[in-house]
Amino acid sequence: MKDTFLHMDELESHLGKVYAEFGDLKLKFKELLEENQRLRIENQQLRKVLKRETESVAVTQEAAEEPAVAKGTAEQAPAASASVGEGYDNLARLYHEGFHICNVYYGHLRMEGDCLFCLSFLSK
Ligand SMILES: [Zn+2]
Repeated sequence: MKDTFLHMDELESHLGKVYAEFGDLKLKFKELLEENQRLRIENQQLRKVLKRETESVAVTQEAAEEPAVAKGTAEQAPAASASVGEGYDNLARLYHEGFHICNVYYGHLRMEGDCLFCLSFLSK
């Protein structure tokens, strides 16, 4: 009888540990689900940006080829200054797509609305 009680005690403490481990596992699973969801959204957004970038590069190349054939060598200076403005536009667009463009969280998905670091970067 004493052995049986001892055995039940052992079993009880074992069950307690299993229960605690199961709780930990459940928490980890929840975190993984959340991360997966976040990565899924981020991936989706990046695919959109990539698709548009690829399309705009194709358009730019077509546009660049035409004048070269028609007028010979086109002026280079306006193109260079335009690409600086384009870089800014890309960043602004990336921000509005929901990504950080600040050097603190660059490339991460913005989960909590506006980011002051990004906004101060955009206003420069
Ligand atoms: Zn930011």
